[in-house]
Amino acid sequence: MRNVTVIAHPLVRHNLAALRDRQTGPQEFRRLLGEIASLMVYEATRSLTVKKVTVHTPLEATAGARLEREIVLVPVLRAGLGMLTPILELIPHARVGFLGLKREETTLQAHFYHQSLPPDLGRHEVILIDPMLATGGSAVAALDFLREKGAKRLRLVCLVAAPEGIAKVRKQYKTLPIFTAAVDRTLNEKGYILPGLGDAGDRLFGT
Ligand code: URA
Repeated sequence: MRNVTVIAHPLVRHNLAALRDRQTGPQEFRRLLGEIASLMVYEATRSLTVKKVTVHTPLEATAGARLEREIVLVPVLRAGLGMLTPILELIPHARVGFLGLKREETTLQAHFYHQSLPPDLGRHEVILIDPMLATGGSAVAALDFLREKGAKRLRLVCLVAAPEGIAKVRKQYKTLPIFTAAVDRTLNEKGYILPGLGDAGDRLFGT
C-alpha cells in the first residue's frame, strides 16, 4: 500500500482497542479519540518541509527551521471534529476549514451540506481529517472539492480505514499520503467498516 502509513504505535493500539469496545461511552470515546489524534499528528506531519532561518538567542545567532507553509486542517463533519481540538493543541497556528458531508443511506453517495475554507488553499499544506475511511466516497468527494478550491498539497488522516476505501482513494489520488491507525478487514452491506467501531459520529456525540 504505497504511501499508506499505519501508525501502529503501542499507545495508539492500546487506545484504539478501547475505542472499538462497544461498552465505551461518548465521554471516554472523545478522550480516547483525542489521544490517538495527538499521537498520530507527529507521524502525519513528519514530511512537512521547513525553511532555514537564523534565530538570535540571548547569546548568539544560530540556525533554526520554520515550517515552509501554513497548515490548514479540514475536518469532515461530524466525526472529524473529534480529532480537531487535540490536533489544534499541537498545531495552534493552523487554519481550519470545514466540510459537511453526509452519506445517503441507500446509495452511500456523499452529499455536501456545508463548506467553509480559508482562502489561498494552493499555498498551504492541507490535512483532511476523516476518521472512518469506509467506502472512500466521502474522502474522494472531499479531496475533489479541495482540489477544485485550489489545494495542491493534500494528506489524509483517518483513524480506521477499510481496504476498499484505500483502493478508491488510490484510484484517483495515486500518491496522496494516507495516515491511519488501522486497516480493517472489509465493509458490510451498509458500508460500515468491519470490525470497525460503529458509527464514529454517533459514538462521539451520543446520538
Ligand atoms: N462511518 C462510520 O462512522 N463508521 C463506519 O464504519 C463507516 C463509516
